[in-house]
Amino acid sequence: MLRVAVVGSGPSGVYTAQALVGQSAVPGIRVDVLDRLPCPYGLVRYGVAPDHEKIKSLQNNLRTVLEDERIAFLGDVEVGARGLTPARLLEMYHAVVYCVGAARDRRLGIPGEELRGSFSATEFVSWYSAHPDAVHDDFGLDRAGAVVVGAGNVAVDVTRLLVRRPEELRPTDIPQGALAALAHSAVREVHMVARRGPASARFTTKELRELGTLPDTEVLVDPAELALDPGYTDPDGLPAVTRRNLDVVRAWAERAADGPPPARSVRLRFFLRPVEILGEAGRVTAVRFERTEPDGQGRVRGTGRYEEIPAGLVLRAVGYQGVPLPGLPFDTDKGTVPHEAGRVLRDGTASPGEYVAGWIKRGPTGVIGTNRPCAKETVASLLADAPALARRRVAPDPLAVLHALGHEPVPWTGWLAIERAEAALGGTLGRGPVKIPDWAGLRGAARGGPVLDAPQRPGDGGPEGRVAGGRPIG
Ligand code: NAP
Repeated sequence: MLRVAVVGSGPSGVYTAQALVGQSAVPGIRVDVLDRLPCPYGLVRYGVAPDHEKIKSLQNNLRTVLEDERIAFLGDVEVGARGLTPARLLEMYHAVVYCVGAARDRRLGIPGEELRGSFSATEFVSWYSAHPDAVHDDFGLDRAGAVVVGAGNVAVDVTRLLVRRPEELRPTDIPQGALAALAHSAVREVHMVARRGPASARFTTKELRELGTLPDTEVLVDPAELALDPGYTDPDGLPAVTRRNLDVVRAWAERAADGPPPARSVRLRFFLRPVEILGEAGRVTAVRFERTEPDGQGRVRGTGRYEEIPAGLVLRAVGYQGVPLPGLPFDTDKGTVPHEAGRVLRDGTASPGEYVAGWIKRGPTGVIGTNRPCAKETVASLLADAPALARRRVAPDPLAVLHALGHEPVPWTGWLAIERAEAALGGTLGRGPVKIPDWAGLRGAARGGPVLDAPQRPGDGGPEGRVAGGRPIG
């Protein structure tokens, strides 16, 4: 018998669970997948943009894994809360694999970041993904200009969502409140701004190219900014993905303007680094950038020339950061847990029974599929250690310990009840499944007593979808 806890049910957690039951020669292996939220799938549910339905459909693969009889999903269980420390987990399981991702957004560290209208992309993504911890629902979409800082795939996601038309979003599971707000958005011009050149951008070509396919939206690129990049003018030797990106931006830069001006535009800007977010009466009005130039080492340096881009909304999409989990070692420079082939290192020595996989192991990089080999490596280490791990004495019933600590796990059937409630909520709105955006609603649905409070927003045209009290939906 080998009992393993996987903490986190995003792609890295689920791939870890899959590798554990798939590769283990231990006949009696049991894997509990714990998640802080009552819902599984991590960033596939709460990070992948709602209009990326194909990527979202990965949930079906993850579901198959979590329905394996050797795997149990235990939602609404927060490690670190109510005495459920890493040390306690080691008393309950032979091994624990932390797949907790990188939850925090990075800041720019410039004046004005605290102004109204300045947000992290994570806050915006949480809102349109109906994350129950989302705190903002007013992003100041009442001005025509918006600035997105960063040149990664998150920047591309939030830029795209800002210019998508409501009829394209309506068939998705975007929460009703976000759909209504975006439908009334005044944003018409989004500036996606990179501090380096196009050859150093981090977005992938498929995501970049998609910006050029959006209806009524033109992508604008200044050829003079491209020409500043030595990689653009001499792409030989660059990785294939970079050369493909350059081809895409080149085509946009060379395209002659024809026909009537489009309803919306996305301006890709390069070699501009943000130095201050400007505001009036506490509200963002513009972002001040310094023009940069390549320093010959792959980075950039300032030129002392400045430019202001007017904007009512600023989203910083400058990457995620790991968050330390009390009781687990943490490398603050890297934002990861120190490890060797997935074995957690305490003072440089592998800690028996403790492992990591995913972003908390290798940092917030790579696409979803990157987590598969990463999980496999960790599981190979764990299974190599299995004979020794199986000899560790652990509590006979982890569920009893969780209950004794005051945790009330949402089981897989609870998650299925949430799915049914979301389908019912969508039905009341004339849509497909629509996500429940708050803790009370999710917990109510999971525990069988979901209730829908359907306040009307001005001009909303339908129930907002908050589940708080009122009439049953399921
Ligand atoms: P990312 O790929 O690391 O990109 C971060 C961007 O922010 C870079 O362009 C970086 O520029 C810039 N940046 C960092 N600090 C800055 C500063 N102080 N000022 C200005 N710019 C700054 O991060 P991400 O976009 O958050 O994505 C995280 C991961 O999730 C990536 O692996 C991404 O591919 C993945 N993801 C994938 C998808 C998809 O496949 N559809 C969707 C979303 C996310 P420098 O390069 O100059 O540092």
